[in-house]
Amino acid sequence: MEFALSEDQRMFRNMFRDFAAKEIAPRAEEIDHEETLPQDILNKAVNQGFLGATLPEKYFGAELDGVSYAMLIEALAGACVSVALTVATHVSLVAMSILEHGTDAQKDEWLESMAAGEVIGAFALTEPDAGSDGQAIATRAMPEGEEVILDGVKVWVGNGEIAGLFLVFARGPEGIDAYLIPRDTPGLTVGYREPTLGLRSMTFNTVYLEGCRVPSANRLGGAGEGWTVAQRALDRFAVAVAAAGLGVAADAIDVAAQFATERVQFGVPIAKKQAIQNYIAEAHVEVEALRYLVYRTAWLADQNRDFSTEASVAKVFGARVARNVTNRMVQVMGGYGFMEDYPMARKYRDARMLGLVGGPTELHAVRVAQHIFAQRDLEIAP
Ligand SMILES: Cc1cc2nc3c(=O)[nH]c(=O)nc-3n(C[C@H](O)[C@H](O)[C@H](O)COP(=O)(O)OP(=O)(O)OC[C@H]3O[C@@H](n4cnc5c(N)ncnc54)[C@H](O)[C@@H]3O)c2cc1C
Repeated sequence: MEFALSEDQRMFRNMFRDFAAKEIAPRAEEIDHEETLPQDILNKAVNQGFLGATLPEKYFGAELDGVSYAMLIEALAGACVSVALTVATHVSLVAMSILEHGTDAQKDEWLESMAAGEVIGAFALTEPDAGSDGQAIATRAMPEGEEVILDGVKVWVGNGEIAGLFLVFARGPEGIDAYLIPRDTPGLTVGYREPTLGLRSMTFNTVYLEGCRVPSANRLGGAGEGWTVAQRALDRFAVAVAAAGLGVAADAIDVAAQFATERVQFGVPIAKKQAIQNYIAEAHVEVEALRYLVYRTAWLADQNRDFSTEASVAKVFGARVARNVTNRMVQVMGGYGFMEDYPMARKYRDARMLGLVGGPTELHAVRVAQHIFAQRDLEIAP
């Protein structure tokens, strides 16, 4: 593996950081408190090509490699994790699923408009009684002639409020199927928006499917292949979530280190106190370890190598580092770290979600254990 970034990757990284610093960071508190993602921010992201980040140029995508895409999510999350995960949900969970499993007709129908941000994607797997155990979904997909009728309830659907296209998982005659369902399909209703501890400018909604009729041609992948579609998407998303953890943790250190040089107590900047130095140095050590884990996992995917265990490793570690680092940076900032007028409180709340969204830490740890014990011919069930 080459550890140095290519010239293109360095150029992209600078561009992403610049965009995040100029266009998102100054408004991050405002959009968090107003619990909204303004269209103009999304438009600016579209103009930079972020909504089609890893899609081929053929579909007007930016065709970024995986490492550059990880750096995009990292930079966006440094400014605002909600924006980063809005983009990652759209790109990693939905657009890339269509690219990987879609027919030519499905790709032609959706990918250009997704890259242009005209259609935002949402991923609807979780149900009230099927969280970690995604294969326990009760939503039904009943074939009727050339159509399929879907009935069920999906919860916590990220991007629910702004999505134009839902990737919905349902139980069909041959197992779990995946369906592409446009928002305006009769029988699909976007309902309750959940108030959340963090990620407040991203929306999470209940989605109802009541006699929702779509052409059979809307199925993504073969009959009964929906679980594979979901797993592949969640592997990609796990790397993006780990990259978001890297971004929020690294930026938290920046903010806290700056604060520590300016905040004077006992006649000196608190940065001169060893307790504060230790908090910051330890945090930096963890962030640098995470950085190489994230980039390496993205690089593995770029080499078309299997990266599913590594994705879980990165997700577990990324969520942990983000939570631990933001927690300590709140401490460095003292009471200011707790006040909602300063960015650290938001970063801390947002970081807390990374161990849940995209599958909880415990389930990713089970996947790592499955990999270890498979080498010893021992099967581990979740
Ligand atoms: C902010 C947020 C955004 C989300 N966005 C989406 C989305 O866009 N689309 C979507 O489909 N879903 C989404 N989800 C759902 C998310 O993926 C699920 O929350 C997750 O899969 C866990 O389900 P659960 O919360 O119901 O927890 P549960 O499954 O009820 O688990 C509760 C606890 O038990 C643990 N546990 C469960 N089973 C095991 C086991 N076998 N071994 C060890 N521990 C176990 C879990 O790790 C967890 O700690 C989102 C969730 C959140 C919080």
